[in-house]
Formats: sequence, structure tokens, C-alpha cells
Amino acid sequence: MGPPIAACYRPSGRPFVRGEGCHLFDDEGRAFLDLGAGVAVSSLGHGHPALLRALHEQADRLLHVSNLYVADSVATAAAAITRATGTDRVFLTNSGAEAIEAAIKLARRWSQVVREEPRFRVVCAERSFHGRTFGALSATGQPKYHEGFEPLVPGFSHVPYGDVDALAAAAGDETAAILLEPLQGEGGVRLAPPGYLQAARDIADQRGCLLIFDEIQTGVGRTGPFLASSHDGVRADVVTLAKGIAGGLPLGATCYPEALAEALTPGSHASTFGGNPLCCAAASAVLSIVDTPAFADDVLRRGQILHEALRQRLDTAPARAGVVEVRGRGLMWGLELDRSARPVVTELFERGVLATVAGERVLRLSPPLVISDEDLIAGAGLVVDALIDTLPTSP
Ligand SMILES: *Cc1c(COP(=O)(O)O)cnc(C)c1O
Repeated sequence: MGPPIAACYRPSGRPFVRGEGCHLFDDEGRAFLDLGAGVAVSSLGHGHPALLRALHEQADRLLHVSNLYVADSVATAAAAITRATGTDRVFLTNSGAEAIEAAIKLARRWSQVVREEPRFRVVCAERSFHGRTFGALSATGQPKYHEGFEPLVPGFSHVPYGDVDALAAAAGDETAAILLEPLQGEGGVRLAPPGYLQAARDIADQRGCLLIFDEIQTGVGRTGPFLASSHDGVRADVVTLAKGIAGGLPLGATCYPEALAEALTPGSHASTFGGNPLCCAAASAVLSIVDTPAFADDVLRRGQILHEALRQRLDTAPARAGVVEVRGRGLMWGLELDRSARPVVTELFERGVLATVAGERVLRLSPPLVISDEDLIAGAGLVVDALIDTLPTSP
């Protein structure tokens, strides 16, 4: 039997004891190339000196003051996060799901208390993923995550991702918000069709509801620019971040403009740990590296190196190694297979490579944002080899 951890997790292999750059080491000293970064979390890889310096410096000084007061590192991180997202205020949380909860609460309260309109509905997308708490779970458009947890929170509906007409038909007088990922992550690394995010912006404006972009996975430079929605030049009213924002420490952020500030007045929402000084110090260190045009360009450049390396090897692989499509942006890639991606992830683990599954048939690569060209090229080779070697034998 493994460690006494809740059985909703099925951890593979031996315990990890150490990380260095884009490699993790288990308790027998075996090295693994990290092409997952957790799930797109370890944005600076493992043991990044700037992140460690910030953590040590903060841990030596101050760990907690509560949100009754403000710690200097929290003020600094809030300024960096709002600057990076082009917003004015941020509600800080401990996780992505909580950032979604705050966004939904903001939208309902903005409608009901500030604008005095009976709006409460949230239109979301099929195959979306927004988290596991009840509000975020209700927003999530994947029935498998709902199973056994009903009844869910009322007011959430789901339309096919990318279908403008369905979105227009679903948003009405009672709609408080439209909530979308600019590029679906857990649903299988699915890009928004050209024009879809702008259409969502227009529909939200016409219906008088808020547009929320869930950039928990796509934000913080994962696709190149700080926000993936910048590829389309579309701005949401509210943006959620988490995952990579603090390089492995738990932090989430719900960012919004001053125009919505009245929605969250004193006492309306709060979190004991949200915006913890240590996590905020980590976030400032991450943003100081990731939130620059040069870094964004380099993520895009290295993303192309990965894509090209995959493409070249797949072109000469038998039956294209069963890969139906390769899609993604920056350092977020999905390989849609003609079969389940799980055995491939297991095989990769056996070979010392960490990758994840998105949807059922999509092998996801989301390496640390600091990964080198050499590791990307080597990783692409190892991935395609594992794909070839797990091809079902022809009858
Ligand atoms: C991971 C994820 C969440 C949930 O974040 P947690 O920190 O696991 O609560 C929400 N939305 C998206 C897009 C995610 O990828």
C-alpha cells in the first residue's frame, strides 16, 4: 500500500525528494525530465535562485498578518499582478477554484447590489474546467466531474465552446457573467476559434453582463504573453489567475478594474490565508521574470522549437504514432491521440519523463517556462518514441 493519502489521487512511482531546473529526483536518485511542471504550476522550474532568494528573505521577516492589515510583500505583489493584467484591483486566494468563486461572487453582487438587477446566471462552456469547489464545479462543463455531487449550484449553463450563436442565445437578461477559458486546458488543450473571444466580448456588452476569462492555466506567460487573451487582443472585465503565478506556492488572483470595485465592499468577501505574504513574495519573483516582452517572445520561440521538433519526428513515425492533431501556443501543447493518452503518460514515466493527460485522448506538455531548447528537443524525441512504442500492434 502507498502513503495514506486520499484515494482520489493515484500518485505514480517513488517519492520525489528534490528538484533542479527542469528535472525532479526520486528517493533513489533517479532523474525525471519535467514536461508537466505539476499541472502548469512550476513556472520557473525547480529551485530557481530568484524564487528561493525571495522566499528565504520573506520567511526570515514575516509569514502572516491577516487581511485586517497589509504586509509589504502583499502590496508589492498586488501592484505587479494588476500591472501585468491591466487591471486595478485584485482579490487574492489560495487556489484557482477560490479565484473562480470570487469572480462569480463579484459578478452576482455587481449585478444584484450595485446595479440592482436580478441577474444571477453564468454562461460557461462545455468541456471547460474551473475547479472543484461547488461554485467552480457548477461552472465546469464536464459531467464526469459532477457525478455524485448533485445538486449543484443553480444558475450555470453550458454551451459548445467556440459556437458564437449558442453563446448569444444563452446570454440574456438574467445573465450576470459569461465565463470562458481563452484556451481550454483540462478539456484537451483546445484553442478558441478566431474571433470567438471578441464575439464573447461583444455579446457580454450587448447583454450588459460581465465577461470573465479564466486564465488560471493559460495566464502568467504560459502561452507567451502574460494573458493568453492578448493573442486575440480581447480584454475581459474580470480575469482569474493561479497555477503558475507563484512558481509552486498556493496563490490565486481575481483581477478587475476600478469600475467594478464597489462589488466587493468591506465584509462582502474574505479569505484567512488568501494573499499570504510568503506566496506573494514568490509571485513578485515570478512576475519580475515572466512579465517582460523579451521573456514572452522567448516562450513563443521555444514553443515553436517544441512544435517543430514534434512535427519532424511525427512526420517520419509509423502511422504518425497515432497522433491526430498537435495544437497549442507558447509552452502549452496538446497531442490529440487516436487512443487514450493514459498509457502513454505511464510509459513516459517509466522512461523518466513527466507529462499529463488533458481530456481523455490528449497528451499535454506544459513544461516549466524556463526550459532550454535542448531539453525541449530531447523531450520531443522521448515523447514520440513513447508514442510509437505504445501503438496498439496491428492485427
Ligand atoms: C486548474 C484550474 C482551475 C482550478 O484551480 P485549483 O487551484 O486546482 O483550484 C480552474 N480553472 C482552470 C482553467 C484550471 O486549469
